Amino acid sequence: MSTHSIQRPAAPRPDSDDAQVQSPAADGPTPEDVQPVAYENLDRFLTGLITVGPIVALGFAGWQLWDGLLHGYDVLVFAIMYLLTGLGITVGFHRLFTHRSFKTYPAVRFVFAVLGSAAVEGPVISWVADHRKHHAFSDREGDPHSPHVDHGTGLRGILRGLAHAHVGWLFIHTARGHRERYAPDLIADPVVSFVDKTFFVWAIGGLAAAFGLGYLIGGTLTAGLTGLLWGGAVRMLVLHHVTYSINSLCHFFGRHTYDTGDHSRNLAWLAPFSLGEAWHNNHHAFPTSAFHGFGLRQLDISALVIRGMERLGLAWDVVRVAPERRATKSFAA
Ligand SMILES: [Zn+2]
Ligand SMILES: [Zn+2]
Repeated sequence: MSTHSIQRPAAPRPDSDDAQVQSPAADGPTPEDVQPVAYENLDRFLTGLITVGPIVALGFAGWQLWDGLLHGYDVLVFAIMYLLTGLGITVGFHRLFTHRSFKTYPAVRFVFAVLGSAAVEGPVISWVADHRKHHAFSDREGDPHSPHVDHGTGLRGILRGLAHAHVGWLFIHTARGHRERYAPDLIADPVVSFVDKTFFVWAIGGLAAAFGLGYLIGGTLTAGLTGLLWGGAVRMLVLHHVTYSINSLCHFFGRHTYDTGDHSRNLAWLAPFSLGEAWHNNHHAFPTSAFHGFGLRQLDISALVIRGMERLGLAWDVVRVAPERRATKSFAA
């Protein structure tokens, strides 16, 4: 039996374990579910900029490659920045803040909120509200980014659905999770609330860090600039599309091991790049589990980080799902 209660998100209980996080709604969404947007055109412009900008940068990067200006230290800066900001999203925004899979010190919460913000996927509380709403209405009306709802039929419908789930939904504000409704616990958290309000500082800070790392490792201004390109723009592009792929590909392709009532899938090849998030069917079956990969054969780098933090005393109350409980939702059972 799952501990995830079957309740509408109409009555979120911030004190409860995961009531407002992933309770499937019995009826459709209400207007109160949707976060209003203050500056829609500005928001669309910025979303377009951070989506298209890195692609332009990648074109420039290709030109750079031809010119022989990609160095070993650029790859190193890319790897460090990708891992840090990626874990900010997976361990921080997703497992810690959205699903409360483990507990930790306020200082560690601050670090993960900052690292996740540097990934430039939006302020932490908005990210969490959207994602909790995704779990509440998974692949039904009200899901902010389902590839399966209202996209038509046939190949055209499939492609439209995938495009919407991948990136199109970011340009639409009619189904976003309302912050007060879906993340009252984080609004009340002074640490997370502060990082949320100062989002742009950390987003730009991530780019400055890429420049600084390049300069430190390469030792020249040019190294700083190529560090900014690879560890900033290209890193942002790759991480964005890996995160988007969880919403699009992982609700379409892969294995459906657990009966979740939605279209979530486990997509093994994406697991290493997504730092473990591609075990998405496992995750929809057991949303509060700190580990998305089950067993040694399902690589989950974020789970290894949480386990390491637990050993060091930096994480506690780590949520684990016993194999017997997993079996109750498995199609193989
Ligand atoms: Zn999902
Ligand atoms: Zn989730």
